[in-house]
Amino acid sequence: MTRTVITGAKIFTADGAGSWSHAIAVDGDRIVALGDAALARTDGADTVIDARGRLVVPGFQDAHVHAPFAGNDLRHVWLNDTEATADAYLAAVADYARAHPDEEWIVGGGWYMEAFPGGTPHRDLLDAVVPDRPVFLMNRDVHGAWANSKALELAGLDRSTPDPADGRYERDADGELTGCLHEGAAYAFRDTVAPTPTVDDWVDGILTAQTYLHSLGITGWQDAWVTPQTLQAYRRLAADGRLTARVVGAQWWERSEGLEQIDRFVAQRDLGAPGFDPSRVKIMVDGVLENHTGSLQEPYCDGCGGYLMSADGPNRGLTYVDPEILKRAVTELDRLGFSVHMHAIGDAAVRRCLDAVEAARLDHGYRDTRHHIAHVQLVHPDDVPRFQQLGVTVNAQALWACNDRQMTQLTLPYLGAERSGWQYPFGSLAAAGATLAMGSDWPVSTPDPLAQIEVAVNRKDPGDRDAAPLLPHEALTLSGALRAFTAGSAHINGDDDAGRLAVGRRADLAVLDRDIFTDPTRVADAHVTLTMASGRVVHTAPA
Ligand SMILES: [Zn+2]
Ligand SMILES: [Zn+2]
Repeated sequence: MTRTVITGAKIFTADGAGSWSHAIAVDGDRIVALGDAALARTDGADTVIDARGRLVVPGFQDAHVHAPFAGNDLRHVWLNDTEATADAYLAAVADYARAHPDEEWIVGGGWYMEAFPGGTPHRDLLDAVVPDRPVFLMNRDVHGAWANSKALELAGLDRSTPDPADGRYERDADGELTGCLHEGAAYAFRDTVAPTPTVDDWVDGILTAQTYLHSLGITGWQDAWVTPQTLQAYRRLAADGRLTARVVGAQWWERSEGLEQIDRFVAQRDLGAPGFDPSRVKIMVDGVLENHTGSLQEPYCDGCGGYLMSADGPNRGLTYVDPEILKRAVTELDRLGFSVHMHAIGDAAVRRCLDAVEAARLDHGYRDTRHHIAHVQLVHPDDVPRFQQLGVTVNAQALWACNDRQMTQLTLPYLGAERSGWQYPFGSLAAAGATLAMGSDWPVSTPDPLAQIEVAVNRKDPGDRDAAPLLPHEALTLSGALRAFTAGSAHINGDDDAGRLAVGRRADLAVLDRDIFTDPTRVADAHVTLTMASGRVVHTAPA
């Protein structure tokens, strides 16, 4: 058994008492001592690391990430790190097409709606750089896609194609498809027209993602959408020891099916392997506010003192799961011991998720199944205390809680003044006693926990620190944000063996290159110099 002792550190343990320490000793995969007791174990240690005053935290756990998709996209057209302009995107697509002349399809994603007028890019732009091969690119929030004319043609889509029930084809004034696909229209294209990766591709994608996530101090995650194929890939990696992160997977609730699909979840739950547990169920309850598919109690504003209209009256967004079915689903899943991971953005969706957990509690009392709601963008003030009361964890994507262009241009005008003040109320939820977890939704946005924590603490984009903060009274403390990204996420990942640094627990930890407590306004400037998962060093970088 190898022993590692880290000395001279400032150790944030994330325990409930707010304890700090200065040294930690690890034998094999376990933490065996903290503080002076750890110093006493330096004799005979295989490695002694002098942290020189730097900060040690529990390994971060990302509570909502799409690692196989992100890793696979990283290996194709990857626009996430490209400047968010149409020109830069088109140059990147053209470069990729030139470098990969043999690929029949150009796929990938990561474009930002805000780079295009109205948030919707046109196929003509792509046709100009790739006229002869199909191009299909999901956007960064994975709620829409951009296709060229060749791709539409191969899919047999044209002006006569009706919109699917759960999505929409963007059309120009003449009714022609523009190549921008929303929600269900984009998913159907991706799943039935674009080429599907093989299990081998997913294995490569997960490993690519894992290397990157480890470099950010992440030692575990919840995959917010495992498919039968990605499940097989995780299983293979867990079985052969290459999955060094601890992963829980959420199986996808098919909106077109009913409660009968629960039998499939039960069967697939048994396909786990040590280190990979597919025992969660993800239910997408609504869309997002930026394209008016997030589900609101009162209609979207039109920015001119009225309401946005849809075909059947004032537009309140979309509801993907009937509220009564949602209640019955959560009740049955809870009874069977599943933890339910619900996507809810609009205030109506958040309320329906809480109502569904309440229905389960009323049916058969409280069970420690650790349901959680991801995103929680718009929360009616009446619903804030219910998270604590019902034992529902807030799965926060804190990076979004700032005044970026997506917020100021595509969100605030459509919410109006009162509701704009209800957004991402993490401070109020914490004050009301709710448990908070954090996750990135990568590849929607960066998986760097330190960038997310900076926004949680300052409510400003780390790339625009002079901007006005978004509802600064909803900021978390730095300790609170760190606890959410470690102990809080471990809680909903069912990983009681990690998330805190304590004797007897699994040795998952990260060493930062500085003490972020000295300037909490610049957390994102810090880097991770060492990541340890189950006692193994899985990432090192020069300090
Ligand atoms: Zn989501
Ligand atoms: Zn997601």
